[in-house]
Amino acid sequence: MKVCLLTSFHNFSLAEPITRALAQENYITPTPIQRDAIPVVRAGRDLIGIAQTGTGKTAAFALPILDRLAANPKPLEKKSCRVLVLSPTRELSGQILDSFRTYGRHLRLSSTLAIGGVSMGKQVRALMGGVDVLVATPGRLLDLVRSNALRLNKVEVLVLDEADRMLDMGFIHDIRAIVAKLPAARQTLLFSATMPREVAALASQMLRDPAQVAVTPVASTAERIAQRIIHTERAAKPALLVEVLKAETIDRALVFTRTKHGADKVARGLGHAGIAAQAIHGNKSQGQRERALADFRAGRVRTLVATDIAARGIDVDGISHVINYDLPNIPESYVHRIGRTARAGADGIAISFCDAEEAAFLHDIEKLIRMAIPATGRRSQRPAPRAAAQRPHAGRSGQNGSGHRGSGHKGFGHKGSGQNGSGQNGSGRTGSDPAGSGRKRSRQHRRAQREQYAKVLPAKSGGDIASLPFMQRPR
Ligand code: AMP
Repeated sequence: MKVCLLTSFHNFSLAEPITRALAQENYITPTPIQRDAIPVVRAGRDLIGIAQTGTGKTAAFALPILDRLAANPKPLEKKSCRVLVLSPTRELSGQILDSFRTYGRHLRLSSTLAIGGVSMGKQVRALMGGVDVLVATPGRLLDLVRSNALRLNKVEVLVLDEADRMLDMGFIHDIRAIVAKLPAARQTLLFSATMPREVAALASQMLRDPAQVAVTPVASTAERIAQRIIHTERAAKPALLVEVLKAETIDRALVFTRTKHGADKVARGLGHAGIAAQAIHGNKSQGQRERALADFRAGRVRTLVATDIAARGIDVDGISHVINYDLPNIPESYVHRIGRTARAGADGIAISFCDAEEAAFLHDIEKLIRMAIPATGRRSQRPAPRAAAQRPHAGRSGQNGSGHRGSGHKGFGHKGSGQNGSGQNGSGRTGSDPAGSGRKRSRQHRRAQREQYAKVLPAKSGGDIASLPFMQRPR
């Protein structure tokens, strides 16, 4: 007997213009968070979604919201919005807006962005006549409300995206102030990669009888990532990075540093070594960040150097390599970082440099992910084996089939009116895709690399590099 699963967007009965846009984007199978969240949101319920970037969570809320707007069109009201999406960073906000515009491009809807770091005048003007969808960072949104450029009494749907990160970044008071101005009768959707106590408390105050859907995004994306540690001296890192970038078959590499200054220094060093690279971090202007991202997306620059905060919202398809130039001191950041590759079903490679001072960070990371990461040593003295490295492997956490890869059309370069669908070729690739016909070859090469790394896995890990069970950090 054939078992009938919900495997198509058609099963959701979304408005035809939305399914048409999805077909043009080559979205065929809903990801698990989409499969679980869309029916709940369409039914009008509040929702807590535990999912991180890379799982398709943006469409999980954008599609049912667009469907609601399409089913119930209303004239715009001055200085108002019907849907308010709050996100922690400017980049993520831009990407969310692009998603709304991409999926809603056959609908007559208006949308805009309210983010810090750019002049407020343009945003005030954009809000003058009202919009259907407003995507904002909390600080700028409050500024707009306080200067009477925006009223929040017409909001029908509130989305809090990456709630854990917003709280980490100290937005809690702004969020409370914003929510206090919203109508009580609204639908609220909260998405968070993790569910620490603070987020749970926020949810219990702001949501009404919420449904909860959770995907295990880190495990499902990380399973496809081949990880490797290279032990090295701190001073040898610049040369090692050049060596790695030259040796690997790179489609796009995202290099992480702990500090903004470090990101600039690494990008400059790569430039001197003849490797085009750009840095992206909080000290760059919005224009610089958007240009760097656009160059990276288009493949004009294949190496982007970023800090954790700047990279948090980066949604670029086709990152083949994540390189941790510095290991993060927060172990969860490691999991977030490596999740930048292997998005939506692709495989990827994560290489981390570890100097003597970072041995403790590595220990924490291995404890969190409950596996020893295969390592090669370059340092004169390798640290003593860590307790985490001795632990047996905790077993495979189960693949949950995260849909297939999207088109990568979400770039800042694709910010038209969003209403006429122009500029989309529906092929799922931009013309300037640097991988081109070499993509298959480089995929094979990476597979060979993965197998090679798997061979150096310590015997106790079971030799299975694909298995990366993830657990929430014990409290
Ligand atoms: P998100 O988690 O929302 O940042 O999405 C991650 C990436 O997956 C984005 O590049 C989306 O365009 C892509 N994506 C989301 N849903 C699907 C889907 N059902 N099929 C193919 N690609 C998708």
